[in-house]
Amino acid sequence: MFELPEFATLSRQMNETLAGKTIARGSLGNTPHKFVWYNRTPDDFERLTQGKVVGRSWFRGRWLFVPLDPGYVLLFGECGGKVLYHPGSQLPAKYHLHLAFSDGSALTAATQMWGAYELYESGQERERQYVKGMRPTPTDPEFSFNYLNALIDSLLSGEKRSVKALLTQEQLIPGLGNAIAQDIMFRAHLHPRHPIAELDRDQREALHGAIVHTVREAIDQGGRYDEVDLYGRAGGYVRLMDGKAAGRPCPECGATVEKIQYLGGACYLCPMCQA
Ligand SMILES: [Zn+2]
Repeated sequence: MFELPEFATLSRQMNETLAGKTIARGSLGNTPHKFVWYNRTPDDFERLTQGKVVGRSWFRGRWLFVPLDPGYVLLFGECGGKVLYHPGSQLPAKYHLHLAFSDGSALTAATQMWGAYELYESGQERERQYVKGMRPTPTDPEFSFNYLNALIDSLLSGEKRSVKALLTQEQLIPGLGNAIAQDIMFRAHLHPRHPIAELDRDQREALHGAIVHTVREAIDQGGRYDEVDLYGRAGGYVRLMDGKAAGRPCPECGATVEKIQYLGGACYLCPMCQA
């Protein structure tokens, strides 16, 4: 699944490559998929996108917004899989969204597990569930140490949460997912099960620094190596803590990296560095 760095990469590349192109024909794909969330019928999607011009896209958290001018915004939300640019007429066998441009190039999107491919009248996209009221994300200027510190304080009166829950659940920090969270916890020297109620100020500062730096580095490197960008190329960000790290020496201390199952997914961690 894409996380914030992959959406940032797609947004940047769409602005390099797609902005200004005119849609000759839009379609909602050639293969059914139970977990793609559409908000238009295929006929409406084709009618509403025809002749529209791609504007400058933006992202927030795990949501990518592509203006189709005049009047509409195409939204890719919480999806994974592949969003690909095709300079010529060759397309993948299966896709769930297709924009054919007047210059002969095309965009296809095929999601892997689930995701939203929705078309809104401009402005309405901000009203969508999970977009409306989204908390500050790690690339927003508001995401300061003071903000994170106050967020953690505000969560202490509710249910007991761990660091992994803070990073990956309920969009508390939108844009992070199970993949990048592993490296954030490693860099912050925090165990996934560490209760947020027990984070002292130094640990909170370490966590804030790890979030901001890891996200920035992954964006700068074009997303994770196990996802592909708009051009079908693997991203350059190689995770420190992932399936390949398990059983190998920790890059910092040499202890053997462990794999545990916790909160709906695997965690990879150093038992010496992370407490
Ligand atoms: Zn270690």
